[in-house]
Amino acid sequence: MRLLLLGPPGAGKGTQGQRLAAKLGVPQLSTGDVLRAAVKEGTPQGLAAKGYMDRGDLVPDPVILGIMKETLAKPESAKGVVLDGVVRTVPQAEGLARVLAELGKKLDAVLVFNAPDEELVRRLGGRTVCDHCGTPYTGREAGTRCEKCGVGTLVRRKDDEPEAIRNRLVAFQKQTAPVLEWYRAREAQGARVVHIDAVGAVDEVTRRMMKSIGK
Ligand code: AMP
Repeated sequence: MRLLLLGPPGAGKGTQGQRLAAKLGVPQLSTGDVLRAAVKEGTPQGLAAKGYMDRGDLVPDPVILGIMKETLAKPESAKGVVLDGVVRTVPQAEGLARVLAELGKKLDAVLVFNAPDEELVRRLGGRTVCDHCGTPYTGREAGTRCEKCGVGTLVRRKDDEPEAIRNRLVAFQKQTAPVLEWYRAREAQGARVVHIDAVGAVDEVTRRMMKSIGK
């Protein structure tokens, strides 16, 4: 299965995407994770992306299209993939459609995670992430050890500061919300669009997500 996760920052795409990929036995591609790794390694791609990311702005489309092409052509992605936050603008949706067509593949479904802004701001404002494996935590203090990998330390993401959070929510409304319309308009010929209520316990949201794809 090839699934695209769409939704505002803080809706749980990363957490649910990881679970979904594990359950389906396919890899997860998160452009945010790829870009953060590039920033950490100091590659030219990372250096170019860092300023945009720190401010909470979207990274330019050509960078994202490059990541899509490179990753989707890998043999690991052949039998399916969970695409987390990979498409955030209409040109990226068009680009993904082109890349998939070139590979002779199709998206099966677009999963849209919905949560009100107050909930997103609360989650992002209280979020820490592991500086080693990237696992996100809500309400766990910075400086403590990551339970998942046991190696990293929990830190605050720079783009989880109030001003960057505001920017990311604005970017979602302006640039990513139209992507939903783009997929909805093509639903009859392409991927099914399903909505998931992303408010609630993590396990409960996972159940809703699996049900939405008939699993
Ligand atoms: P995330 O980890 O999904 O919250 O993404 C963190 C940041 O990476 C975003 O705020 C953007 O700056 C950048 N980013 C990730 N994916 C994309 C994308 N598909 N298009 C543009 N920027 C992206």
